[in-house]
Amino acid sequence: MNAADIRKKFLEYFEKKNHTIVESSPMTPKDDPTLLFTNAGMVQFKKLFLGQEKRDYSRATTSQKCLRVGGKHNDLENVGRTARHHTFFEMLGNFSFGDYFKEDAIKFCWEFLTEELKLDKERLYITIYKDDDEAGELWKTVAGVPAERIFKLGEKDNFWSMGDTGPCGPCSEVHFDQGEHVGCGPDCGIGKCDCDRYLEIWNLVFMQYDQAEDGTRSDLPRPSIDTGMGLERIAAVCQGVASNYETDLFQSIIQYTADLAGVKYRENEEIDTALQVIADHSRAIAFLIPDQVLPSNEGRGYILRRLIRRAYRFGKLMGLEGSFLWKTASKVVEDMADHYPELKESEDFMIKVVKGEEEGFAKTLDKGLEMLEDELTELKKTGVAIVPGETTFKLYDTYGFPIDIVRDIAEKQDMDVDEPEFEALMQEQKTRSKAAWKGSGEKDVASIFQTLLEQDVTCEFSGYETMIEQSEIAYLLEMDGTVVDTLLEGSTGWLVAKTTPFYGESGGQLGDTGEIAASSGKAIVLDSVKPSQKLTAHKITVAEGDMKTGESCFLNVDRSQRLATMRNHTITHLLHAALQTVLGDHAKQAGSLVGPDRLRFDFMHIQSLTDEEIAQVEAIVNQNVLDAIPVERNVMSIEEAQSKGATALFGEKYGDTVSIIEVPGVSMEFCGGTHLDNTGIAGSFVITSEAGVAAGVRRIEAATGGNATQYLNDRRTAVAEAGAMLKAQPAELPGKVKALQQQVKDMAKEMKSLQAKLASGAGRDMLSELEEINGVKVLAVELEAPNMGVMLEQMDALRSKIDSGIICLVANHGDGKVSVALAVTKDLHDRFKAGDLIKPVAGEVGGGGGGRPDMARAGGSDASGIPNALAKIKELVAG
Ligand SMILES: [Zn+2]
Ligand SMILES: [Zn+2]
Repeated sequence: MNAADIRKKFLEYFEKKNHTIVESSPMTPKDDPTLLFTNAGMVQFKKLFLGQEKRDYSRATTSQKCLRVGGKHNDLENVGRTARHHTFFEMLGNFSFGDYFKEDAIKFCWEFLTEELKLDKERLYITIYKDDDEAGELWKTVAGVPAERIFKLGEKDNFWSMGDTGPCGPCSEVHFDQGEHVGCGPDCGIGKCDCDRYLEIWNLVFMQYDQAEDGTRSDLPRPSIDTGMGLERIAAVCQGVASNYETDLFQSIIQYTADLAGVKYRENEEIDTALQVIADHSRAIAFLIPDQVLPSNEGRGYILRRLIRRAYRFGKLMGLEGSFLWKTASKVVEDMADHYPELKESEDFMIKVVKGEEEGFAKTLDKGLEMLEDELTELKKTGVAIVPGETTFKLYDTYGFPIDIVRDIAEKQDMDVDEPEFEALMQEQKTRSKAAWKGSGEKDVASIFQTLLEQDVTCEFSGYETMIEQSEIAYLLEMDGTVVDTLLEGSTGWLVAKTTPFYGESGGQLGDTGEIAASSGKAIVLDSVKPSQKLTAHKITVAEGDMKTGESCFLNVDRSQRLATMRNHTITHLLHAALQTVLGDHAKQAGSLVGPDRLRFDFMHIQSLTDEEIAQVEAIVNQNVLDAIPVERNVMSIEEAQSKGATALFGEKYGDTVSIIEVPGVSMEFCGGTHLDNTGIAGSFVITSEAGVAAGVRRIEAATGGNATQYLNDRRTAVAEAGAMLKAQPAELPGKVKALQQQVKDMAKEMKSLQAKLASGAGRDMLSELEEINGVKVLAVELEAPNMGVMLEQMDALRSKIDSGIICLVANHGDGKVSVALAVTKDLHDRFKAGDLIKPVAGEVGGGGGGRPDMARAGGSDASGIPNALAKIKELVAG
């Protein structure tokens, strides 16, 4: 019997016993930010057990995807080295929510094991909680287990609780005897040793008490059942193999990897470990990525990163070249997609993510290994056998080295790792980046309304049809959830009406705001929330008079806010569809937020969007708006919705009937939100930003309707301002800016050469070249200057330094351009005039010019004549 058969048999058996087969929830629990990963079948039913939620079934069965990493036993290190430690595993379970209790739970369990799986009754042993005589009796009477095979254990082994308070109760476990040869010796026995002989295969939890804060336990009104049986273990038992890795669940992938590496399984212990690590981690990787976990440096993403890196390194040790994990993870998809179709849907995306991570890691691995080896050598020299936490942390921080790798390497050299110090450093870093991990961020309003939820209080939602409604105030609560009769003027609290048109925040759509008016008072609705599927509550501030329970009231939604929200919500659906059209099917929604002012949409995609892609997405959505397509809302069964191909959102839980929002021909999604009647009402759509929020997740922010107009108006104003500054029409702006940029570039270049030339000129004391000819001071020099302007500046500087004289400057600008500048001080004007002198001088450089008596300039074209020109001026003065 292969594992898939066992899984199928289990679900079908319980379906026959009137259990609803419920799909596995994602491994990333949405409602429970305290939990990193789903680690048991009951996680998705937690609110049912707590009485905070009701569903249409009271019996359920699942095969739940689970992940366990870390914890006090540091599981990850053991994974791959033992027969039964895994990160990813499947948990088979049956659940009763106040329906059947111990007797049926025991009966079903026994019947399934002995009649469906045909396990040998003689090899099954039972443990019960020491005070649970009831369970002991039932195992004897219902299952016929002899007293000598029922063992009583203490609180540590056989008592379960959800937390410090809340539901709890005794458990009962079924053990399978693998035979004496597996045992650990004469003291081997249930509850006595830790060996594998008596293998625990199924745990039944009898939730029958409610534990109060002071530790006292009262009976739960409706006791419940939660059971769990690891598929990997029961498959090993059914297939008669000693290790889970020898079951078909792992063998297929182990064989595949062994072929890739050109090695054989069960020939060498180290190779076996490597193969087992890769098999285990490949399963986790293949399942985590479709559940929207992506490699990162914190939280869930860090666990995934560690798994990829650890497996990668074990592959290297075994001689695998290049990136290979994406292949082994693909093999998992091939093996498991029958029961978990989400694996196939995200396979291309998963491959890209894994490949990218492998390639990135390969680059840093060598560097990190080198650094670690150096460090270990140094430590050994000094006789220290402990790798400091600082080293481990640095490797982690700089090279992304998981501590597991450091530990593996250190261990081989008989060294320890200072883990407390490492943990302390990690903790410091975590505190620094605390803001990054806030769980799923959903408001936990359920606990405020615990009292109402326990009484099954509901409130009919009329907001699909209307935005104003007459109803009655059913409950008033203070902010902390205390139920009161009256809320006084000025106070803030919660109001629950019998019916309401206000939409309570859920599914990414923010809660409605507005007004509630009663005969004795009026309240402003600040927010609306949904503590449960069927209950909406309003956060209010009493603005006038008092609000009193039992009074009739008018509930009035702020229409313009709601309409703006609906524009954003309907457009979000169109955007989701357009992204999949332009980018591919992998571009699935990873989160969204719609309110009156904005629309935020997160989706799975690796690269940033190109300008063309953004333009395409905008064009498609705007076409859908222009086409003015009627939006339909239909309520149907989940099965019907799925058969129609409606898109269920990741990780969302749905009741038996679901609301489907359809924009015919464009989009069909499970959605409980409020929507436009027609896409045309959205008016317009514009993407305002596109950015990455995490590895593999992009975020688009966009505006619709009046917000889009406002956004475009702001842009227009900015363009107009820029146009006015540049004296250009909007269409001319790019050309103008380009020309300006070129100008700035040219000027910078010129300035640089100018500075160089000035620097060379500055080093020369030209006044020292002053001669006296015929009683007149004469300075005649050639200098470096890029143009006449610079020459004239030089001329000014020189003139200010002499009282009387004649200065003649000549410069060669290159390209056959020569300039001459000539100055004569006033006292000499009766003998010499600059305008007269310049003509013969310029003539020597092939040019001409003229000017006033004090100052003249000329241009020339023959640089070879410069010495003659300088000689000419002296000649002229000498007479
Ligand atoms: Zn033992
Ligand atoms: Zn929606």
